[in-house]
Amino acid sequence: MNNRQLAQRDLKHLWHPCTQMKDHECLPLIPIRDGQGVWLHDYDGNRYLDAISSWWVNLFGHSNAHINQRINEQMQRLEHCIFAGYTHEPAIELAESLVAITPPGLDRVFLADNGSSAVEVALKMSFHFWLNQGHGRKHRFINLSNSYHGETLGALAVGDVPLYKDTYAPLLMTPITAPSPDCFGLPDAAACEANVQEKLQAMQRLLETHHDEVCAVIVEPLVQCAGGMRMYPPAYLSGLRALCDRYQVHLIADEIAVGFGRTGTFFACEQAAISPDFMCLSKGLTGGYLPLSAVLTGEAVYQAFYDDYTKLTAFLHSHSYTGNPLACSAALATLELFERNDTLDNNQRLTEHLKTALDIFRNHPNVAEVRQTGLIAAVELQNANGQPFDWQERRGLRVYQHGLKNQLLIRPLGDVVYFMPPYVITPDEIDFMVKTAFAGINEAVR
Ligand SMILES: *Cc1c(COP(=O)(O)O)cnc(C)c1O
Repeated sequence: MNNRQLAQRDLKHLWHPCTQMKDHECLPLIPIRDGQGVWLHDYDGNRYLDAISSWWVNLFGHSNAHINQRINEQMQRLEHCIFAGYTHEPAIELAESLVAITPPGLDRVFLADNGSSAVEVALKMSFHFWLNQGHGRKHRFINLSNSYHGETLGALAVGDVPLYKDTYAPLLMTPITAPSPDCFGLPDAAACEANVQEKLQAMQRLLETHHDEVCAVIVEPLVQCAGGMRMYPPAYLSGLRALCDRYQVHLIADEIAVGFGRTGTFFACEQAAISPDFMCLSKGLTGGYLPLSAVLTGEAVYQAFYDDYTKLTAFLHSHSYTGNPLACSAALATLELFERNDTLDNNQRLTEHLKTALDIFRNHPNVAEVRQTGLIAAVELQNANGQPFDWQERRGLRVYQHGLKNQLLIRPLGDVVYFMPPYVITPDEIDFMVKTAFAGINEAVR
């Protein structure tokens, strides 16, 4: 089997995610045969450095020996069982570990099986909490402009990326959208802080008007990832926490992309020293191995559902694969690797190295901004007049194509070229990744 043969077979029946399938008339589909560490290998003997952790999920490399072993051991004992009325050790141990490492007050863990489902759970739980408390008027959500929370209808509704959302508008509930505190284009940290205060005031005005009908504010802490890796400082989160308390509205922290060490701390919320009312986790949770998600909340929320069955206050939400033991054991193995590898310290060193490597983009005429939070870095492109490129020119796609030919898997979001590598990347591999992207950008902007 070679690449071309497999791609032909694939395209006969498969329909790929987030893809205009017609693109594959000229864009090759790459069949991956195996992976090792940060590298993926195809059937023609090419390799690709996975600079985006295979859609932000992989933390400790492909085919990680430790995670392999833990899943293998679990597989010999129990692959899956119903999670209502029954339980198992991997889920119990995972809940204990998550409670121990998340911010204080998040003591209850509800498991689901992907990020969007976790967001749905948090939205439904928040609404249902208020209903159980006698506040049935609360049924709406506040989101941030340019936010992303997944693709199922509820999660899509509280997102704000037009490319994914606009088509389905007739199907979606309508959130109240507050302006994002993102710092794009601001000259310095002082301007960023002023912007944060301004955006908090805008949020306060919305809460003042709408708090009676609002269940929760949902945000991506520190980095709006799918919205183009737009970043904002922790001060916004502390201000938002205070506003949510003042107006009796929940705060939902969607840490699906930024959790598990991505931003420098274990969870992004830690940088603002806040505890949200709900925290959604997925993606890196299993080290990129298996679909799993968790929603953490506090005892007060849990108790509001706790009553006689006939009172209909229970949270009757479920997914067939809730709490899958293989996925839980992958998550446990992943958490073990954080300790074993001293991951947060090592990430700090990699973050510094990446920061220096990114210097080659600074002062480039086609780079509007270089930004970084921990091991997320983005280079936003612009045309010769300092304006965004016409999106239909698909400059980012050209960077992607350059990567394909030069051993780099990179998948720009529009004209935002970003890096979100696995934590096992070496400094040399960071240099290779950044230099290859630099060459790709030079080709793409011509
Ligand atoms: C990816 C993502 C989701 C959705 O997770 P899926 O597992 O893809 O459904 C939700 N929120 C954020 C912030 C994400 O990055």
